[in-house]
Amino acid sequence: MNTVPSLSARYSDPRAYPRGVAFLDGQYVPISEAKISVLDNGFLHSDATYDVVHVWDGAFFRLEDHLTRFFESVEKLHMSIPYDRAQVTEILCNCVALSGLRRAYVEFICTRGVSASGSRDPRDCDNRFIAFAIPFGSVANPVQMTRGLHVAISDVVRIPPQSLDPTVKNYHWLDLITALYGAYDQGAETVILIDQNGNVAEGPGFNIFAVCQGQVFTPAHGVLLGITRQTIFDLCEGLKMDCVAQDISATVLCQADEVFVTSTAGGVMPVSKINGRMIGAGGVGPVTEQIKAAYWDLHVIDQHRLTVEYPDPSAG
Ligand code: PLP
Repeated sequence: MNTVPSLSARYSDPRAYPRGVAFLDGQYVPISEAKISVLDNGFLHSDATYDVVHVWDGAFFRLEDHLTRFFESVEKLHMSIPYDRAQVTEILCNCVALSGLRRAYVEFICTRGVSASGSRDPRDCDNRFIAFAIPFGSVANPVQMTRGLHVAISDVVRIPPQSLDPTVKNYHWLDLITALYGAYDQGAETVILIDQNGNVAEGPGFNIFAVCQGQVFTPAHGVLLGITRQTIFDLCEGLKMDCVAQDISATVLCQADEVFVTSTAGGVMPVSKINGRMIGAGGVGPVTEQIKAAYWDLHVIDQHRLTVEYPDPSAG
């Protein structure tokens, strides 16, 4: 057991952080120095919204779509930030440029902030804008990308849309985390939550897709409208594949020919086992493989790219 520090003990952070740069309170700081007040309602009450975009080989992917979703969420939560789209773009570019990261996970956040008077009225709070760039991370690790994720379907019901609008990207993750621990107990690596009607909803940080007889399905309601999910609709159109948003029961998902999950953190990620049983022939199915390849191919297309200007390392 640790001893209790004496009155003279002063704060110094002993933790190790990944490489990265953050923007908060109008300044760029190393990620290890990016701290918010313990009184921020974003921390105390999960009263915040955020978005995550990735940078791949020196360029943002679909940043405009992430900005649209973020600004809509900020408005839906009656928050405001002192920057417009162009300024947020500049701040995100600066974080990435300063970090030097060519492949980055870039998060931008609006928290309710702190009320100077201590009032409990959220309208009295000064909203806070934060952004950061850290190394790109994936829901699935390289082994899982090759052999497919092992997933459990939880009986934990995802927070219903009547309680919280799932299209507002949010930090209400305790249903996801509770379900994740249940999945670990069953030997699975991640988890899928259901909705109030027993249909599949989403998982910790990803949307879900089933491939049945060449058609692609994903839940229509009660989920975050993922930007990667939208990319799958776009890609399927180009590949002349039907992609349909509709209810998917747990049974249909388990009997699908292929299952994959999607996220900005990892792209298109195959699922090879659900509740200990193999999906299709196991491994990565051909449709998943084709969509995954098309997803990464799209990253070189100008329409979706915003190239980051990195400082010249040779310049003083
Ligand atoms: N669903 C949830 C709950 C998420 O948190 C995320 C991403 O973090 C997704 C779905 C996937 O969204 P996107 O493709 O925009 O990353």
